[in-house]
Amino acid sequence: MTTSELYAPPRPTISFELYPPRTPKGEAQVWETVQRLAAHGDPAGREADYFSVTYGASGSTAERSQALVARILAETTVPVIAHLTCVGRSRTELRAVVEEFLDAGVRDFLALRGDPPQGETEWTPAPDGVSRACDLVALIREVEAERFGTRASTGLARLAAHRDRRAQVSIAVAAYPGYADIVDDRPETNDDDVPAPSFRCRKDEVAALRAKQDCGADFAITQLFFDADAYRELQRAAREAGVTIPLVPGILPLTDPARVRKLCALNYIPEPTALLAELDAAATPEEATRIGLRATARLAREVLEAGAPGLHLYTFNRHEAVTALLDEVLTP
Ligand SMILES: Cc1cc2nc3c(=O)[nH]c(=O)nc-3n(C[C@H](O)[C@H](O)[C@H](O)COP(=O)(O)OP(=O)(O)OC[C@H]3O[C@@H](n4cnc5c(N)ncnc54)[C@H](O)[C@@H]3O)c2cc1C
Repeated sequence: MTTSELYAPPRPTISFELYPPRTPKGEAQVWETVQRLAAHGDPAGREADYFSVTYGASGSTAERSQALVARILAETTVPVIAHLTCVGRSRTELRAVVEEFLDAGVRDFLALRGDPPQGETEWTPAPDGVSRACDLVALIREVEAERFGTRASTGLARLAAHRDRRAQVSIAVAAYPGYADIVDDRPETNDDDVPAPSFRCRKDEVAALRAKQDCGADFAITQLFFDADAYRELQRAAREAGVTIPLVPGILPLTDPARVRKLCALNYIPEPTALLAELDAAATPEEATRIGLRATARLAREVLEAGAPGLHLYTFNRHEAVTALLDEVLTP
C-alpha cells in the first residue's frame, strides 16, 4: 500500500456526532436518528462511516454516554467513537474508564482535555490526573499496549493497520479552525495580564495538535466553523508544523440562528453575521432552513474541494437537517 492510497480514499467519509439523551423521549429520538443515519452515509444509501458520542464535561454523562455507545455497537454495524475527557479523574481512574470501554467492545476514542466546570475559567487537572489531551492519547495507547501487545509505532503504520483492519484501537482528537481572537503568535504580556478566555493563539493550537499526533492520535475532527478559509488556514498551519494526520471538518447544518449564536458564544467562535442576518430576515422557518442548508452545503463543498477527507456532521440528535444537507452536497 502506498502513501497516496492511504490518504486518498475513493470517497469522503461521512460520520455523525450524537449526544447521550437525558429522558425516555430523548432516547427514542436519538435512536430514530441512529437508525435513519446508519443507512445514510450518502444519498444512495451507503452505510455511515461512524457515529461519535459526546461525553459531558466532568464526566457527568459517563453512564449515559457508555449506554448509547454500547447500544449502537450492539444493534448496528456502524463503528462508534466514544468521546472521553481528562476532567476530574486521576490517571488510575482514567485507565479504568478506558478499560471499561474496551470491555464493552469499544475500539475507537476521541481523546479530549474537556472544558473547565461551569463558572470556572482556569482548567485544573484532578489530583494525579492529566492536563492535556495529548497525555490522554498516550494513556490510551499505554492501556492498548498492555491489553493487546505492542502497537504500530508510526502514524502511517497505524493508519495502514486501520485500513487493513489490523489495528486494535483508533484515537481521534480535536482541532480548532478559528476563534474570535485568534492570532498567530502569543503576544508579550505582563505577569498580571490574564488573557481573555476567548484568547487562543494559532501557534499553541497547532503545537497541541502536533503533540497529540506525536502521542499516537490517528486523525482529528474540527470544531464547527463557518468559513472555508478557516479550515484552509488550519490545514496550512498544521501541515507546516508537521501535522500529517487527516483533519476532518466538523459541520453543523446552519438552520437555527439561536443555536448558532449559542454555540458561537460557548466556543468563542466569531458569529457568521451576514448569514445570521439572512436567517433572521427569513419570512418562515422553512425559508430559514432553505437558506441555512444552502450556506452549509456551500461550505461543505468548499472544504471537500480543499482536500477535506470527509464530513463529520453535528446532528444534535436529529436526522432531518443532516440528511437534507448530504442530499444537497453529495447528489451529483
Ligand atoms: C470535535 C470535538 C468534540 C468535542 N467533544 C467534547 C465532549 O464530548 N465533551 C467535552 O467535555 N468537550 C468536548 N469538546 C470540547 C473540548 O473538550 C474543549 O475544546 C477543551 O477546552 C479543549 O480540549 P482539547 O482536547 O482540544 O485540549 P488540548 O489539546 O489539551 O488543548 C488545550 C489547550 O492547551 C494548550 N496546549 C495543549 N498542548 C499544547 C502544546 N503542546 N503547546 C502549546 N499549547 C498547548 C492549547 O492552548 C489548547 O488550547 C469537543 C471539541 C471538539 C472540537
